[in-house]
Amino acid sequence: MQPRSYHVITFGCQMNVHDSAWLGAALEARGFARAELADAEVVIINTCSVREKPEQKVMSALGRVRQATGGDGRVLVAVAGCVAQQLGAELFDRSPQVRLVAGSDGIAQAPLAIERLLAEPQARLALCAFTEAFPEKEGAPRRNGGPSALVTIMQGCDNFCAYCIVPFTRGRQKSRATPAILEECRERLAEGASEITLLGQNVNAFGRDKTGDGTSFFRLLEQVAALPGLRRLRYVTPHPKDMGPGDVAAFGSLPTLCPRLHLPLQAGSDAVLARMRRRYDSAGFLRLVEDLRAVRPDLALSTDLIVGFPGETEQDFQATLDMMEACGFMSSFSFCYSDRPGAAATRFPDKLPPEVQHERLQRLQALQDRLGQRWLDARAGQETTLLIEGRSPRKETAAQDRAEVSAVSCEDWQGRDPYGVPVHVPLPAGVNHTGSFIPVRIVEAKRHSLVGRTLPDSRA
Ligand code: SF4
Repeated sequence: MQPRSYHVITFGCQMNVHDSAWLGAALEARGFARAELADAEVVIINTCSVREKPEQKVMSALGRVRQATGGDGRVLVAVAGCVAQQLGAELFDRSPQVRLVAGSDGIAQAPLAIERLLAEPQARLALCAFTEAFPEKEGAPRRNGGPSALVTIMQGCDNFCAYCIVPFTRGRQKSRATPAILEECRERLAEGASEITLLGQNVNAFGRDKTGDGTSFFRLLEQVAALPGLRRLRYVTPHPKDMGPGDVAAFGSLPTLCPRLHLPLQAGSDAVLARMRRRYDSAGFLRLVEDLRAVRPDLALSTDLIVGFPGETEQDFQATLDMMEACGFMSSFSFCYSDRPGAAATRFPDKLPPEVQHERLQRLQALQDRLGQRWLDARAGQETTLLIEGRSPRKETAAQDRAEVSAVSCEDWQGRDPYGVPVHVPLPAGVNHTGSFIPVRIVEAKRHSLVGRTLPDSRA
């Protein structure tokens, strides 16, 4: 008998990518096989509402699905994630082909619901209630075969930043039980992962909610860092206001904790930060950066920035540029502010004209390019260790290096250094290097990546 087939379309953040990987793995455990869109019996769109025009993106994805699958009702179409949470059963009216709507907590029941809907072709189901407990997902998420694993430690957020709808779409903060987290980490390590990234909307607040089991984020980090087989530990996303002394000290005391932190600043002006309800000011953020660099001088910082928040003056914007310089961010995600239905800032006066926002965004991104290039250029000549992820997508990488490496024929591979930067390196051909740790010297900085050459003792 032909296995039933599925296709997942994913929008958004790492948490969504992780949820989609789990959905795929859970369906495969139930006998489904992954297929191209046009051939799938079940199509799931896993949505995100953080970026611009989320509803339009979902509706146009539904249009593409209808076109690719013929729109004759033979395909079970499901919408999951944040937009599903927001729109709920309204999606059934807006797109008659949709038969399952699974919000943020409902995803955990989606595989079972899909089986039920396949057995009952006339039925439709909306799973949009928030659960009291952390919604544990059955079975193991797929690691996509790579050496790095993502492990969710919490879901939702209690912060209600004025521009954000995560507390409405993902719900209030729920921490996962520490034993379940450690168990999943052990499983991933036993499968061959050597790097783990802990995921959550506000990881430093881990444990500080109704479902917390008394373990703080720092104590969780210590326990994960102590797991045999773990070589690299990362986490995303921290909130500056919740980073306590233990979280800072961990960068000095836990050797496996990588020297890279994505620390969202959002804006440099205290007035804007207050209107955003971020609950820190620029001086507090700078103190935190100083404290972090005191324990880990080589810590690489990246950030998120919102340009043109309602009421942002040119002076406010300049304060953001000043903070970028002062913190020396090696990269950033930056966006023009836009309303998210339901978020408090939609009601704020003094919205900025798009042309002012875009002009500021361009200036900000030009500064980020300079800061990023300065950081990459400073890496030239340094020795580091790469965790190899796969073949390099760049064809021309280090042709000169390849000639220098040796008489053995080489292919270009890509790995990441402890700072999370992609590094291209020629390695002996005919061997699968994925998952290997390779010591290299950085020989060249490109625009968003580096080129390395293996050190003599690591050449095969
Ligand atoms: S901390 Fe603020 S921006 Fe981040 S998820 Fe929570 S509400 Fe949204």
